[in-house]
Amino acid sequence: MAIITADVPAPVVASTSRVRGLQCRECGQLYPRAPMHVCELCFGPLEVAYDYDVIRRMVSRESIERGPHSLWRYRDLLPVTSDRVVDSGAGFTPLLRAENLGRALGLRNLWVKNDTVNPTFSFKDRPVSMASSVAAYDFGFDTLACASTGNLAGSVAAHAARAWMRACIFIPADLEPSKISGASIYDPILVAVDGNYDDVNRLCSEIGDLYGWAFVNINVRPYYSEGSKTLAYEVAEQLGWRLPDRVVVPIASGSMFTKIHKGFRELSSLGLVAAGNVKMVGAQALGCSPVVTAFKEHTHDVRPVRPNTIVKSLAIGNPADGYYSVKIVEETGGDLEAVTDDETVDGIRLLARTEGIYAETAGGVTVGVLKKLALRGAIDPDETVVAYITGNGLKTPDAAAGVLAPPLHVAPTLSAFEAAYKDLLARTGA
Ligand SMILES: *Cc1c(COP(=O)(O)O)cnc(C)c1O
Ligand SMILES: [Zn+2]
Repeated sequence: MAIITADVPAPVVASTSRVRGLQCRECGQLYPRAPMHVCELCFGPLEVAYDYDVIRRMVSRESIERGPHSLWRYRDLLPVTSDRVVDSGAGFTPLLRAENLGRALGLRNLWVKNDTVNPTFSFKDRPVSMASSVAAYDFGFDTLACASTGNLAGSVAAHAARAWMRACIFIPADLEPSKISGASIYDPILVAVDGNYDDVNRLCSEIGDLYGWAFVNINVRPYYSEGSKTLAYEVAEQLGWRLPDRVVVPIASGSMFTKIHKGFRELSSLGLVAAGNVKMVGAQALGCSPVVTAFKEHTHDVRPVRPNTIVKSLAIGNPADGYYSVKIVEETGGDLEAVTDDETVDGIRLLARTEGIYAETAGGVTVGVLKKLALRGAIDPDETVVAYITGNGLKTPDAAAGVLAPPLHVAPTLSAFEAAYKDLLARTGA
């Protein structure tokens, strides 16, 4: 019997050296990679720290373009170090030229990042892809948990299912029914708490310490939040490896906002795009707009509010990254603005009517703020502007339902249709 020998390739070992650990955003103290989110010295928030010299040697436009059509094409810029990840196929969503909406607003270079088409229909699949991967395969947790304003619930439950982990989800009891069923379907332990998001978050901090679970937006938050950087990477790549001039981003805790900014900065410092400034515009619902208020009062001190808005996905009264969001707006020459619930519904309808994209209430806030700034003349008509649409309209179907025209209701005869049609034309003057 012949003995076949072969050159066995060296096992592929994921280099961990590009991830240095966690670093305090305030005092700079370094910590090893661990499930923790607060500095033990100064209580500042921890952030993943990278060795960009190592990354610069690993990453090029070509290496990224060869990657999968998901956010994992940017894996070398992300905090996972295990070979295994929880891959739901999140990310690499369409960046669409929005000519019709642009015409309505007087903007000649408007784009929409349509993140409504992720696996669980919101951008939350990006941070949860990171948090679930790190929790399952880097730290070996068996339970994935979260405090949710709605979209996080479904995303955590779905990713836990794929990772064969237990899910324990905490939500405010008054959440939209479609978001409750959109999480329940994955069969998590779902806990509805009598209180608002900030109450839920406080409770979860206590539970996390006691039970040793991976709360994606609490003890593994530093890894979680890095997932939102992919929203910057994708937009730059989809624009042909260049930075937009301005982006409009909805703010709840401010995590996504600060990480999109970080993503753009990383791309220019790594030489993947020409250096440039992206003006960061934050959008909030007027009924929960503590970050906008701080900006308008020229303070970095974001004072907590009690949310009162139909925009439940953005209803965080005490935003963890509010302070950093205001600073980024000032540094980049961006803006912060809020819209009412009625303007939010108008924004949902405007986007649907002009571009065929159905957004949830957070998207209505983004479009509403974009419209407000454009009509005020606060945006140069030739700027490349990207509006981030972060959640799907089927999650909040009741938001606009009350103001939509009912169908023409007719008997199944030609004459009935023609009468109704003629009547419609007369009424609408079309
Ligand atoms: C959670 C959420 C946001 C905001 O997230 P933060 O990172 O907490 O600011 C925006 N849009 C949608 C649809 C969301 O679910
Ligand atoms: Zn510190």
